[in-house]
Amino acid sequence: MSLQILMAGAACGKTTEVLKRVCSELSSTDLKKIWVILPDRRQINSFREKLLTSGNMIGLSTGLFYEFGNEILLKSDQTYTEAPELLLHRILQKIIQNFSQTGDLGAFEAIKDKPGFIQLVHRKVSELAEAGYESFPSDNLDPEVDVILKIYQAYQKRVKQRQWMDPHQIISMALDAVRSTSSVIKGLDFVAVDGFERFTPPQLNLLCQLAERGVKVLITLPGNDGAGRTIYQRAQESLEQFQSAFPDLELIYAGDQPFLPSFILGLANNFLVDKPQIIEKQSDMRLLSAYSPLQEVREGLRRIRFLLNKSAFAGDCAILIPAEDQYSALLQTVANEYHIPIHFNWGKPLIQVAQLELILNLLHVSTEDFPRRLFLDVIRSPFVDLSNFGFKPADTAILERVSRYGPVVAGFDNWMKVLQRLATKGEESKKQAELDKEDDEIFNLPNADACQRLMESLRSLAAILKPPEKEKRITFWVEWLWQLLEDLGWLSQMPATTEILWFEKFKQNLREMCIADQELGFWYLDFDQFVAELEMGFQMSTFQQTTDRNKVQVLRLLDARGSRFEHVVILGLAEGVFPKSQREDPFLPEIFRQQAGLESHVEHNQIGVFYQAITRANSTLMVTRPYMSDKGEALEPSPYWNALIACLEEKDIEVVRSTTKRTLEDAASLEELFFWSHLFKIPIKFEDEHLSQTINKLNHQKAVLSSRQSKRIEGVYEGELEKLPPGLAKFEQKETDWSASRLETYKSCPMRFWTQYGLGVVEQHIPVLGLESFQIGSILHQILEDVYRTAEDPTNVDQLLDLLPVIARQVFDAAPETYQFEPTVYWQTQQEEWLAILQSAIIGLASEEWVPIAFEEKFGLDGKPALNIELEDGRMVRLHGVIDRIDQDLQGNLRIIDYKTGVSHLGKDDLIQGTRLQLPLYAMAAMQALKMGEVKEGFYWTLNGEEAGSLKLSKFQSADFEGPSGAIQVAKLHLQMIMDGLSSADFSPQVPDGGCPKYCGARLWCWRYHPGRQG
Ligand code: SF4
Repeated sequence: MSLQILMAGAACGKTTEVLKRVCSELSSTDLKKIWVILPDRRQINSFREKLLTSGNMIGLSTGLFYEFGNEILLKSDQTYTEAPELLLHRILQKIIQNFSQTGDLGAFEAIKDKPGFIQLVHRKVSELAEAGYESFPSDNLDPEVDVILKIYQAYQKRVKQRQWMDPHQIISMALDAVRSTSSVIKGLDFVAVDGFERFTPPQLNLLCQLAERGVKVLITLPGNDGAGRTIYQRAQESLEQFQSAFPDLELIYAGDQPFLPSFILGLANNFLVDKPQIIEKQSDMRLLSAYSPLQEVREGLRRIRFLLNKSAFAGDCAILIPAEDQYSALLQTVANEYHIPIHFNWGKPLIQVAQLELILNLLHVSTEDFPRRLFLDVIRSPFVDLSNFGFKPADTAILERVSRYGPVVAGFDNWMKVLQRLATKGEESKKQAELDKEDDEIFNLPNADACQRLMESLRSLAAILKPPEKEKRITFWVEWLWQLLEDLGWLSQMPATTEILWFEKFKQNLREMCIADQELGFWYLDFDQFVAELEMGFQMSTFQQTTDRNKVQVLRLLDARGSRFEHVVILGLAEGVFPKSQREDPFLPEIFRQQAGLESHVEHNQIGVFYQAITRANSTLMVTRPYMSDKGEALEPSPYWNALIACLEEKDIEVVRSTTKRTLEDAASLEELFFWSHLFKIPIKFEDEHLSQTINKLNHQKAVLSSRQSKRIEGVYEGELEKLPPGLAKFEQKETDWSASRLETYKSCPMRFWTQYGLGVVEQHIPVLGLESFQIGSILHQILEDVYRTAEDPTNVDQLLDLLPVIARQVFDAAPETYQFEPTVYWQTQQEEWLAILQSAIIGLASEEWVPIAFEEKFGLDGKPALNIELEDGRMVRLHGVIDRIDQDLQGNLRIIDYKTGVSHLGKDDLIQGTRLQLPLYAMAAMQALKMGEVKEGFYWTLNGEEAGSLKLSKFQSADFEGPSGAIQVAKLHLQMIMDGLSSADFSPQVPDGGCPKYCGARLWCWRYHPGRQG
């Protein structure tokens, strides 16, 4: 009977002692059966590596507690088989359903369908199973605890009935096996347990049982602290539990002086003692306070970059962080910049694997009826090969254009309808011209042949993605999915040679679903339920990534126990980050946990974890804390940080502020080198071609940045070009075709003009349901034109109002086809609103004096004469356009009316500033090009405002000009200025009054962009 507990401080050689004992056992002449139990896979690998040097490993097994228990069970006569995870999940799911049906879920009834509830219950049940909990509900319990325990009881019963075993129960069952049949441990000579400080009741009892039955058991525990600190409190509790269960155990105290560099040793010895001694700082230890978590990461990785440059081995360096969701993204980003390979040491959920996310997207494409974005993402994915369906690599881009042209927001039928329309239309298609009749080319669309091919491909893909409608057994769905993945080339994208851990886990999930079906009765689900189960499985299952010893190891602080590294960096010593604030478990409260032997939820022994962490370094240690959060809020230091700095003089604590001046030698990346050189005005002295090229590039970028930051808008980066770029050369030609809107665009903002007409930038909009504003304008214009043209007497308001609903109905009915949009639920309501504003327009524009004589009258288009305006310098400007309406009085004078859907920028000042030139230019066109008579009046009619704009040509007055002819003079002056601006290639940005319009394509990069009223 032998149970030894070796108690020694952290880094005091406990693992070395275990190694010695194992080697000694292995070297004996008798063949020995030895087990070494360790807490995680990385420590198992590390232990085996160390043992390899001793040569003899015959008879030695290393593994997790769970694997040790499993080996015992294999030798026993128990008939239980370890249950697959998804089978247990299914059992739990059924139990919760039953509880719900019988009204036994209590307060959980309200949250039973919430995402995460079942996983939470699963975790509680696993904790109870791991603790070997066996007493069942009593009257003294909280109702919620009572429900959890009843679920657990029902779960245990169901699992046992099926002859399955929850893996969390393995140690309890191994304990039962040892108790009932000692032959299961026959031949087992020695068991060593290293790297633990807490044991579940079944683990503790199993080790005691082994010792009672003659197996030599050696357990190491951290402890033997002479300073009375709480750092070993958890281990001390474990020791007391062992002493109570096995009073004859032999307790061996080993050295209390850790094998650590002197400075780290001094720090460890003075950590959290009453009167810490001030120790002399040396280069193997750094404590650094940084102004943000990002800066902490940069300083930590800079240290590692420095060590790697000094030929340290990456696998000997470790970064310890409080939790996996803190610092990971920052570490990955900065490590990429510094070219440091890093490896995260924790399991990754299947849901984070891109290939599996694609599967879920694939399944949603059909159920959500081919939503535009999802569908395009699926066919763009590199994880499928759709060539068998006739798709070509460029088809995603083509279909994207088709969807914008359509537009297609979702719907298989809509995709087909648009492709069919394009196929019928011919090789090139043009979108409905914008309200101002501009003729911008739209992007290339597929020709008729390509449309036919795409329709065929889409049909075949839709056929294969379409799931059967009825409920099916889960085995059917698994086969269906597998076949789908094969047909889509997803499976053939898997490298055949290497074992891919996530893929193995994915296959295991599918197998487990089938096992659940066979074991628990046919599992019928409809397609949506199957997808939900699959997704839940992806969320629950994690896969361990293989340890890469050639990379810097990133570990959670909790997982660092039992490992040693040459160089350690610890991040995150801020209050609330580490130690983490702890809250009581609302499902299994603390008082119950203590009684049931479950791990405490509020005392995670974070002191012990941190102490262990600082003693993991063989050579150097760096500890950092952020004094500000990412959002710029002050962060208090962690109490552990305060305990560390209590051993140092203030001057030994490094502080990196945003203003701290750095030396260029410390830069860990080129980006940092140049950034610091600029920031601290330190010239770079290196004679390196690559560096000088980069400097030139940066100097150029600096000039751009200065221009950007300057309040004055001037210079070559602000659109002041030396000569017209080739795309705009046509505007310099003697006779250039212009429209009013182009001229207005230049006056409004020359940069916008250059972007739109020089660069030809057309912003591609994400299709949305319903109408765009230019389509609304077109519909309203068309109705008014048709009503006035159809009326026998266009001055008779009653007749016009009678005609309005009839004609509007025809236009509205044809509109979805004519203007290519998908009506929304508001379509009918919109029609009523528009009828009302059209009525107002007809009534508001009625006049006894004026008779409408022309509608949508063109000039410079369709063979009609253009308006030629000669400027003072002899240049000729040729204009084209469409006048919405022209009225005439009894004397033959004209009135020009232009309908506007918007209500802003229709006043006199807009003409004086040159941003609204249409009315005087159209007046000139009616008089000079169309020769229809003298214009005496003109105004904009705001359809939505239901009134005329404030600018009236008859009443126009500026400092020097008045009336229609004065307005025309003002427009001509602006024409002259526009042409002068173009000649001097001036395209400076200019924020229009009221802000930049949302349709300015340049706003996506223009640094003068200032959002304004939308219109
Ligand atoms: S964003 Fe504004 S300033 Fe810039 S080009 Fe467009 S309208 Fe002009």
